Amino acid sequence: MTDVIAGIDLGTTNSEIAVYRDGRPEVLADDGGRLILPSVVGLADDGAFLIGDSARNQYLVHPERTVRSIKRKMGTDETVALGDQTLRPQEVSAIVLRRLKEIAEARIGQAIGRAVITVPAYFSDTQRLATREAGEIAGLEVVRIINEPTAAALAYEAGAHQGRRLMVYDLGGGTFDVSIVRIEGGVVEVISSHGDNHLGGDDFDQLIVDWLCGELSSAHGVDPRTDPGVMARLTRAAETAKKALSDHAFAPITEEFLTERDGAPVHLAVELSRDRYEEMIAPLVERTLEAIHIALDGASLGPGEVEEILLVGGATRTPLIRRRLAEIFGRPPRGEVDPDLCVALGAAIQGGALAGHEVSAVLVDVTPYTFGTSALGELKGEPYPYCYVPIIAKNSSIPVRRSEVFYTVVDDQERVQVRIFQGEDPDALNNIQLGEFTVEGLSQAPSGNPVVLDLALDRDGILHVAAREKVTGLERRITIDNAMPRLDAAALAAARARIGGLASADAESAAGAPAADGAPEAAALLARAQALLETAEAEDREELIDLIEALRDALAADQPDAVAKARDDLSNLLFYLDT
Ligand code: AMP
Repeated sequence: MTDVIAGIDLGTTNSEIAVYRDGRPEVLADDGGRLILPSVVGLADDGAFLIGDSARNQYLVHPERTVRSIKRKMGTDETVALGDQTLRPQEVSAIVLRRLKEIAEARIGQAIGRAVITVPAYFSDTQRLATREAGEIAGLEVVRIINEPTAAALAYEAGAHQGRRLMVYDLGGGTFDVSIVRIEGGVVEVISSHGDNHLGGDDFDQLIVDWLCGELSSAHGVDPRTDPGVMARLTRAAETAKKALSDHAFAPITEEFLTERDGAPVHLAVELSRDRYEEMIAPLVERTLEAIHIALDGASLGPGEVEEILLVGGATRTPLIRRRLAEIFGRPPRGEVDPDLCVALGAAIQGGALAGHEVSAVLVDVTPYTFGTSALGELKGEPYPYCYVPIIAKNSSIPVRRSEVFYTVVDDQERVQVRIFQGEDPDALNNIQLGEFTVEGLSQAPSGNPVVLDLALDRDGILHVAAREKVTGLERRITIDNAMPRLDAAALAAARARIGGLASADAESAAGAPAADGAPEAAALLARAQALLETAEAEDREELIDLIEALRDALAADQPDAVAKARDDLSNLLFYLDT
């Protein structure tokens, strides 16, 4: 049995443990199938420790016997009281770590004695030391403490050989960090980092809670703020609605018998739209963007010099955040590795490497295409009826479901025509149309009648489309079977046959056969191109084959100019395919 070095994300709100096994990192679940352990410790009535969900649940009733967010105190001399016990921060963290260790050992059926633990990039030596101590108290030899953005970079880029400059945007429940990192040959360097220790998804929840309190006060004349039980229910409902709004255009919020007024029950039943929610959180999102500029300044870089933006932390599922980042950086951020698990997975990759495994980045099933619809809008400053509105972004992990709301443009509009496209071009007509249908019989309503378009892409590449008039529920659905063409085996075999002589041609030039200038570089390029052939999308593959052939022909004809040109063309395409 090989020695396992676990990877642990010891977070402010949540923690996870992962190991590298069978050639990939894997987050380990507890008996109940849960991958995430709340970093909360409490003391039950009988004096036993409660750890994780049970402790978090008890917090509402017994805050005096529950400890949360201990990470904020790591490295300080502060102690916390838990019942009649007084504990140092590293002792509380050790309780969480010990639980993670037990979960992992039960799952893999093997003792775990060593671990890599992650900490924020800004953690001081004292804080790192305290983390190491926590590990040791929990019975773990901490073989390495690594930075959280380092772990995220490994989750996405381990195994990549070319140097890459990345930005890691990490928005958790209560903290925000942005780091600029450079990864090369498995070594990650944090160039600069900035953040806000008191900004996170919990603040988004609070804004919804404030809004709900306003609604309750205006509709029912009650102020729930004095009742902690009611506030706890509102906070939970707000978080649920917030998560729903990451995928849906509207979220209902219903809490029956929430409170009472003059002896009569008060029920809460409201709906929050994503548009309204985005208005609420926009100032907080902008604050994170300011921090990005500070981090970029610290690295003396402009947004254009960052090659990838990696998303970490559950709150980065918020579409507004993804949109704003895409606007600033001119490219969509990457969030396909589960943002809650990304750091633990990266830590496990580091653990795997330290244990002597050949490691690679996390592999996720993603859609290589963007899917969307067309709508009236503005293109190049002019009104245009076929502006492309992406709904499911390229690189989303699948299965995925997203909805967007559209509005009728004239009074009493009876029908809407829905077209579904695959592609990236702002002009929908330049993308590939996959399907089209009409929803007829809309109710008589002034313009601005909302119609919700819902797209769901399953693992088999089938796209389920539904358009629904919001007020009546009138709906039409279609299914597009071949939204993501599977790799066509025949086409691949044909492609291989066409470039069949490639390997020997490379071997010849490498062996010193007469060759044009730059032949070794060309041979290396050809090898990379050939490796990419299997994974490239159909349209890219055709182009790849053409360029491979052009370069081969030029090499065979020993024409330096032609070789140089073909090499540049191929290298440009490879750059594009690699990114
Ligand atoms: P973390 O500390 O990384 O586990 O992040 C937790 C934060 O992410 C909490 O505020 C969650 O409410 C938030 N979160 C989790 N899932 C989603 C989602 N689908 N959309 C928006 N926020 C989410």
